[in-house]
Amino acid sequence: MRYTGPACRLCRREGMKLFLKGERCFSDKCAFERRSYPPGQHGRRRTKLSEYGLRLREKQKCKRIYGISEKQFVRYFEMATRMKGLTGDNLIKLLERRLDNVVYRMGFAVSRRDARQLVSHGHVMVNGKVVDVPSYLLRPGEVVEIKESSKNLDRVNYAIQLAQGRDIPSWLEVDFENKRGVFRYIPERSEVQIPVNETLIIELYSRG
Ligand code: SF4
Repeated sequence: MRYTGPACRLCRREGMKLFLKGERCFSDKCAFERRSYPPGQHGRRRTKLSEYGLRLREKQKCKRIYGISEKQFVRYFEMATRMKGLTGDNLIKLLERRLDNVVYRMGFAVSRRDARQLVSHGHVMVNGKVVDVPSYLLRPGEVVEIKESSKNLDRVNYAIQLAQGRDIPSWLEVDFENKRGVFRYIPERSEVQIPVNETLIIELYSRG
């Protein structure tokens, strides 16, 4: 199942800011800034992770950043192993092609969570048609756009306001005025800034 509990708990569990909440993440209200130790009764205890533990944490972190369930994650992993090239690279490329991720990266939502909701509530179109499936995998050249009747949603305008100071990745083209963007190409792993060591994830699954 996909985790739907408090987002900040996940950052504290992973020991790093995962930027799951939009503006709050950049403010002094960020729970990780206030309490950077893991949540729970034993949170402040120091524990040394085993090799398995390290790999598991890396996988959990990746799942949490992209906001997906274990089942979906395993599916992406299997797809990645069947593709040409390095499995780790393929895994990140697949995750980056998700519609919710792209809506977030384009700056139309404050977080991937927010983007997921925007998509599932039918506010986003791909090539002129509403697509309400957050896991939809974009192909190069596809056009992502906020639906006409949703273009003035406060949450979209607010996200854009925040995004204007942010770098838009080179594989995307964004027209903020028309709330539209193009998924130009599938990025190389080296272009994707994500604090994940996918080699550890591959090791986790290949050792079963
Ligand atoms: Fe993580 Fe953002 Fe919560 Fe800070 S505010 S703990 S970065 S989700």
